[in-house]
Parts: sequence; structure tokens; C-alpha cells
Amino acid sequence: MVAALAMTGCSGADTVCGQILDNSRADWLTVSDLQEAETAFLGAVRLVVGDDRLSAEGAACPWLKGVKVMPMPTKYWIDSAGRTVYGEAYPGDGWSLTNRVPGGGVMIGADSSWRTSSIVHEWIHIVQGGVPAAPCKATDEAHCGWERPGGEYALIDALSR
Ligand SMILES: [Zn+2]
Repeated sequence: MVAALAMTGCSGADTVCGQILDNSRADWLTVSDLQEAETAFLGAVRLVVGDDRLSAEGAACPWLKGVKVMPMPTKYWIDSAGRTVYGEAYPGDGWSLTNRVPGGGVMIGADSSWRTSSIVHEWIHIVQGGVPAAPCKATDEAHCGWERPGGEYALIDALSR
């Protein structure tokens, strides 16, 4: 009990990087799952080819500080833009794509495991501050270049196993 109190302590954070699990809508993701996922993510995101902002050890961790993680009760839902989504990310300054700010929140569709859920995808948006390594004028600017070899989609694929 003492250890549990120390872990969640004054900051109210549930993970080493300072994320906060919000199980108010669904409880399929536990604090233990979240920590395991965060640790695996931090180890792997450094290896993404083409985003030098994240390649140093621990570089992504501060971007997760204060991030609220909300597991959802359903696998997918309709977002505010009318799209069917399996997850949503709200980087620290929203989706301006002009300024990287830490923090924010993610909503994750219900799944049997964090590995097959959208959490890695949504965390990439958070640690990139919503700004891809190679911005472009594509329709879907937030994922621009993610398909390059060794890029973000390769990371998501690697962690889903
Ligand atoms: Zn996305």
C-alpha cells in the first residue's frame, strides 16, 4: 500500500513519464498495462527513422508528462468530424501543426491488449506534438511520411506483435 501511494503520490501520475490513466469510461487498460506500454514505446520510438527529435534516450518521455489516457468502452466511435475512429489524440496545443507543446490526451478504442490497440499510434501524435517529422501539404497532414521505411507505421507494426 505504501508503494502504491508513493507511485501515485502528490503528482497524481500513474506512469514514470507522468501520464494519468482515466478509467472513468472503461477499465480494460490497467495502470500496469499502461506502464508496460509506455516503457515499450519509449524504447522503440527512438528507433523511428527520420525523426531526429525523438532519437536521444528519454527524449520522448517529457512529451508524455501530464497526458491523460482514456480507454474507451467501444472499439471505435464517431469523432467530432463525423469520422469512424479507433483512437483520438489531442497534443498539448491541439492540432495547429505549428507549435509543439507537451501534454494533452488520448482516447483509445477497447481492445484485448494495448499492443493491438491504437495507443502507440496516438502516442506518436503526442510525442511529435502533432507535427510530423516531414510536414507536407497532404490532405492528412498529421500522418505525413509515416509510411517511409522504418517510419512511424513500422514502429506501430513492430510493437503490435
Ligand atoms: Zn493518427
